[in-house]
Amino acid sequence: MNIHEYQAKALFEKFGVPIPAGAPAKASADFDSALAVLPEGPTMVKSQIHAGGRGKGTFTDGFKGGVKYCKTKAEAKLIAGRMLGNTLVTVQTGPVGRKVQTVYFTVASDIKKEYYLAILLDRATSRPVIVASTEGGVEIEKVAHETPEKIHKVFIDPAYGLADFQVRDLVFKLGFAGTEAKNAAKLIRNLYAMYWEKDAAMVEVNPLITTPTGEVLALDAKVSFDDNALFRHPDVVALRDLNEEDPKEIEASKSSLNYIALDGAIACLVNGAGLAMATMDIIKHFGGEPANFLDVGGGASKDQVVAAFKIILGDVNVKGIFVNIFGGIMDCNVIASGIVEAVKEVGLKLPLVVRLEGNNSVMGRQTLHDSGLPIVSGNSMADAAQKIVKLIA
Ligand code: ADP
Ligand code: MG
Repeated sequence: MNIHEYQAKALFEKFGVPIPAGAPAKASADFDSALAVLPEGPTMVKSQIHAGGRGKGTFTDGFKGGVKYCKTKAEAKLIAGRMLGNTLVTVQTGPVGRKVQTVYFTVASDIKKEYYLAILLDRATSRPVIVASTEGGVEIEKVAHETPEKIHKVFIDPAYGLADFQVRDLVFKLGFAGTEAKNAAKLIRNLYAMYWEKDAAMVEVNPLITTPTGEVLALDAKVSFDDNALFRHPDVVALRDLNEEDPKEIEASKSSLNYIALDGAIACLVNGAGLAMATMDIIKHFGGEPANFLDVGGGASKDQVVAAFKIILGDVNVKGIFVNIFGGIMDCNVIASGIVEAVKEVGLKLPLVVRLEGNNSVMGRQTLHDSGLPIVSGNSMADAAQKIVKLIA
């Protein structure tokens, strides 16, 4: 689960990670009250969307920059008016962009130097890793590619936690000294405490900055959480912004389905993430494009299958459906009954190809056959994929 910069910064404050003062506004009527908490002077206006690259983004009406520097609060108010309700396109949003439904006013800091700081889980070592660089404010992937020696990594043993010597070592490698070093060390320790206690999946501060007076501040904040640990953090769940999520994906999460909308025309309903990927690959192999990634999991119930089908049929881009089930734990007849029930409920005006294999597949095929519905059966994954690609051509 992702949250907005302004929400992440509120969490930072709670954990003692210094940020410039700021306040969000969701309507133009709230601009004055939000700005009232800030001192007069240079102010940043920042579009709040769940995507990075906002600073270099462009709005669909041509207005440039999702993050803007303003000399005064009055100017900030005008700029916020241009952003709110407007659609921002960045390298991360895709060409459709995201509608800005919240703007964040924050004090424009005097930047001495920009750094990069992130904490995430390193899969290779199964440990949290702090990634930091003196090259902040730019794309970290580029730094990693061109000057990998400028990226420092600290691996943390979860049993001991982040050790002081590790923090000192990192602060030294980043070239901090004096007050800056003391402030940076404190910020890193506090940020790690937040990452750990809140079960974050990733915390990214790009840029982290120093000011001419020796302060160390988080200017940007991108935080995501481990969905599997959300039950422990109702305060985090309360930060979820459904405006930032695909309605179909929200519907899917209510039924505990793993669903991700894609751009193609062939909807897939499969069991298991591995099979989901293989199914998307084979559709592409035969010249089609998948409309989604939908994994009903190992032990899906009939209700879940019905819910899955409704979500698929609710996507106007879908021209055909490919059900690809490998029954291991999954009973193929449960899937078949779910399909029949869903089709009876919502109708079926699109071609549907089903490939059932494994546990109780004979019974499952019989159920589909007895339903009298115009369902095309596939003998193998390749056969079924070719059939659905042909049917929608
Ligand atoms: P994004 O990464 O989505 O482009 P950032 O929050 O990193 O958004 O903002 C883009 C750039 O704007 C930053 O790299 C920084 O140079 C500048 N910036 C952002 N917030 C502030 C601030 N409070 N004071 C001064 N400059 C800022
Ligand atoms: Mg940034």
